[in-house]
Amino acid sequence: MSDDVSRHKKQVAKLRHGTVIDHLSPGMALKALEMIGVPKHSAALIGVNLASAKAGRKDILKLENIELSDEQIDNLAVLGPSATVCYIREYEIVKKVRVKLPEVLEGVLRCPNPNCITNHDRLTTSFDVERTSPTQVRCTFCERLISEDDIVLL
Ligand SMILES: [Zn+2]
Repeated sequence: MSDDVSRHKKQVAKLRHGTVIDHLSPGMALKALEMIGVPKHSAALIGVNLASAKAGRKDILKLENIELSDEQIDNLAVLGPSATVCYIREYEIVKKVRVKLPEVLEGVLRCPNPNCITNHDRLTTSFDVERTSPTQVRCTFCERLISEDDIVLL
């Protein structure tokens, strides 16, 4: 185990119970936090633009006393296709999963096209995932193609 990995493990282990989302794309941690929300009994720690051993820069989000649903984990993939989710119990990582972008994202994103029907009628937004790393999704209603940097959460 390299020094880097052991140091990282220690950092993660500070969380007693909760979830760590690692390897989010740079600048996406705040969006992830917005997507998940922080209930009153919880706390969140955000790391933005940290150096990553794997690839360039990354964001990291640590959530105390929060467990994510499978759907939330899937949706996180839009904010970092190579993100990982670690579950922490009593300072130990008990489970680690990689996010996987679903084929269709429903009710997660807002369409940036002001003329799109989803911005006028109360319709659940729907996007087909066309590419990952970098992510590209297409609105099922107006067919606008949206790249990772232009993604807006509902
Ligand atoms: Zn649209």
